[in-house]
Amino acid sequence: MKGFAMLCIGKTGWIETKKPVAGPYDAIVRPLAVSPCTSDIHTVFEGALGERNNMVLGHEAVGEVVEVGSEVKDFKSGDRVIVPAITPDWRSMEAQRGFSQHSNGMLAGWKFSNFKDGTFGEFFHVNDADMNLAFLPPEISLENAVMITDMVTTGFHGAELANIKLGSTVAVIGIGAVGLMAVAGAKLLGAGRIIAVGTRPVSVEAAKFYGATDIVSYKDGDLAEQILKLTEEQGVDSVVVAGGKPNILETAVKITKPGGSIGNINYYGAGEFLTIPRIEWGCGMSHKNICGGLTPGGRLRMERLIDLVKYNRVDPSKLVTHVFKGFDNMEKALLMMKSKGKDVIKPVVLID
Ligand code: NAD
Ligand code: ZN
Repeated sequence: MKGFAMLCIGKTGWIETKKPVAGPYDAIVRPLAVSPCTSDIHTVFEGALGERNNMVLGHEAVGEVVEVGSEVKDFKSGDRVIVPAITPDWRSMEAQRGFSQHSNGMLAGWKFSNFKDGTFGEFFHVNDADMNLAFLPPEISLENAVMITDMVTTGFHGAELANIKLGSTVAVIGIGAVGLMAVAGAKLLGAGRIIAVGTRPVSVEAAKFYGATDIVSYKDGDLAEQILKLTEEQGVDSVVVAGGKPNILETAVKITKPGGSIGNINYYGAGEFLTIPRIEWGCGMSHKNICGGLTPGGRLRMERLIDLVKYNRVDPSKLVTHVFKGFDNMEKALLMMKSKGKDVIKPVVLID
């Protein structure tokens, strides 16, 4: 089969590779729609996972099941499914502890284009199909469905980690697709004021659509100062970090009220340490919580998010700024995510 792959750090291209084989609990899926992620860019162009040779890229896909293993009970060939970016090993101690993302090793629930070929091939392999696939309801479009697999779940996880309370004030730093879903998640969790930090008009407009009450541009001066001024020097109850370089965590600590929470879903690709400002962290005694997490995956998570879309609690369609038809456009879509022009939030590639 053909797959669009990382050839080595910095290089992508089409390769001919072996069609995956299903073990007893697994499924083989043919993608119907895929989307490149900022993480694919980190993987290929920044070597975020280290060197990988001829590894099929991608972890965001909806598709059609073409084969299931002998022990798969709920899915069969021909079913249309949403495939989460994170497909944990559910028979692991980490999953029993409630952290399936880290099943059998830190971040090891992330398998696609990490430990095995990803979703940008003619076929891809899904471990533990009954626990990791979810049925795609006919009323959800392929474009919206593919947003659920990573962008919706990740943005919402940021909001979950930020411990948002009814009526509380939230800042969302970075309003790419993930941050936009953090804005939507904050609204669903009952935030009062939602301050979104971003600049590009396409993102700003979407942030307002998803529930931002205030917009701050990090290009208009010191971000912490701007947000403290906006909140009469009080800061915010919760911060979701969904963009920025490693020093953005310092800003997050500065703008969080004592006892507040920072939910980080941002990826930090450089430097050995992340730093916390001592004074603003109360010399160690501020009760400001910092929690960073890989998004949850798995079937139940997908089914719950599907319901949020199906029952009109969230509409992911504003994230999809470009739709391509045909696998041949994979490279174009990936490079679009790299250069991220003014009008781009997420491209989706539909496959016949
Ligand atoms: P994105 O690049 O589209 O969005 C990030 C935004 O942050 C950009 O618009 C950028 O302009 C903005 N930004 C840069 N510096 C900033 C600053 N100082 N202040 C505020 N905004 C700033 O990326 P995305 O697809 O939305 O993903 C966001 C992050 O989430 C990435 O780091 C990605 O790797 C990560 N991610 C994490 C998970 C997870 O499971 N935790 C899953 C998917 C993606
Ligand atoms: Zn992703």
